[in-house]
Amino acid sequence: MVAPPADTGSRPTVWVLGDQLNPDIASLAGRSPADCRVLFVESRAKLESKPWHVQRAHLVISAMAHFADELNARGYEVDYRRAPTLAEGLRAHREQFDVRRVIAMEPMSWDGRAMLSRLGVETVANNQFLCSHEEFAAWAADRRSLRMEDFYRWQRSRLGILMDGGEPAGGRWNFDVENREPPPTDGRSWPEITRFPLDAIDREVIGRLPESWGNAPDGTWPVTRRQARHRLREFVESGLGPFGPHEDAMLAAEWKLAHSGLSSSLNLGLLTPDEVVEAAEAAYRAGAVPINSAEGFIRQVLGWREYVWGMYWHNMPAYRDLNRLDAHRPLPPVFTGEAPTQMACVASVVAHVHEHAYAHHIERLMVLGNLALTAGVDPQAMTRWMWASFVDGAEWVMVPNVIGMALHADAGLMATKPYASGGAYINRMSDHCAGCRYNPRKRTGEDACPFTTLYWDFLARNEEALAANHRMSRQLAGMRRLSDLDEVRARAAEVCVALDNGTL
Ligand code: SF4
Repeated sequence: MVAPPADTGSRPTVWVLGDQLNPDIASLAGRSPADCRVLFVESRAKLESKPWHVQRAHLVISAMAHFADELNARGYEVDYRRAPTLAEGLRAHREQFDVRRVIAMEPMSWDGRAMLSRLGVETVANNQFLCSHEEFAAWAADRRSLRMEDFYRWQRSRLGILMDGGEPAGGRWNFDVENREPPPTDGRSWPEITRFPLDAIDREVIGRLPESWGNAPDGTWPVTRRQARHRLREFVESGLGPFGPHEDAMLAAEWKLAHSGLSSSLNLGLLTPDEVVEAAEAAYRAGAVPINSAEGFIRQVLGWREYVWGMYWHNMPAYRDLNRLDAHRPLPPVFTGEAPTQMACVASVVAHVHEHAYAHHIERLMVLGNLALTAGVDPQAMTRWMWASFVDGAEWVMVPNVIGMALHADAGLMATKPYASGGAYINRMSDHCAGCRYNPRKRTGEDACPFTTLYWDFLARNEEALAANHRMSRQLAGMRRLSDLDEVRARAAEVCVALDNGTL
């Protein structure tokens, strides 16, 4: 970047944060190169704050550098700084340009918002979501429980998405039943995605990243809005149709099946949720995809994603520290690649994470999350690991998804019951069990599936905490009827030791 000349600061600075990479963000919208300069700060402290997957670290920095380049080409004066901390970068910028006003769009994190306030940065409301904090708070205000399904229907109605007048398109709000097909085992091919060739900026970023882990960046993740738009078109044309029925399926040889690969682009601001949702609805209206596929995908973006965002702000700062099931097991070394595993499903998903910094939602929830939940892994350790390991990770994403959804550490603020299951679910929804050393139907013995053993142990261990939850009464009654419960619990203790030692 060409160093801009110093001047006396009558023009404000717009500070663009690393997950706000879109010319239409609220702090830039309506501005021109004549009325502001733009600041980017790459923080060394942030880069060193976690053991980031190399593709995650590369994506954020490369996307920032590409967006800075794009604004520069549009005529903006851009100050792109590498600094020990964000605050230090801002201080140096203010000093060089004698800036009186610095404006930013509200950050996506609790700590980021506090920091900008401390530093005297003016903020404007974040426009990267369809439901603002205030709207979510108003929706939540008089409700006893904040169910995603209720929020999603409210979003669709008030925004008029996938609606026919006052009724949901296709006559129903929810097509989940059609969207739970087990994986096809006919060897079919799944939609290809474009790998974007690495350019000079990508290579420069790779060359200066600190040593990290995971497979090297290979152009899988869009680093510009143009690439992200390409990925969106590609998904709507070839992925959206098969996405619906197979969204919960898992295959060892297929890391994404028909999933969109759009979450990192949405979370960095390269795409906006309205354009993504509109593209999916347009494909349905044109008769190109069935309603269950369009609805299933729109549910993810308009429902789950916006709900997670709302729940984060509604429950922070206490949310990130919750541990209502009192779980304290350290992160299993198999997750970090420090140990191998004979659990075929876990080995497959961990390999996907290492290769792509990605695993799809069921792999995250029902394999990684389920194992962590039933083994009693510390929710904060799990949150930190997932945040650092996934290409779409952020605190607002991972706190509700891990602490709330996967590990039930919020005592049911998000999920009405824990997402705990034995090997039967994974056996039904994947092709992993056929080639596994363990048997999903067995709960005791050397070859018992660890998921099956730990599931029953989880219920027994947390019986008191779950007893008041009427949605758990059937499972708890089943656990109480087990004639071999003592044996199961003894095997669970062995499984946990092996999990800790990396010998499972
Ligand atoms: Fe996973 Fe158990 Fe199936 Fe093995 S048997 S793949 S550990 S669910």
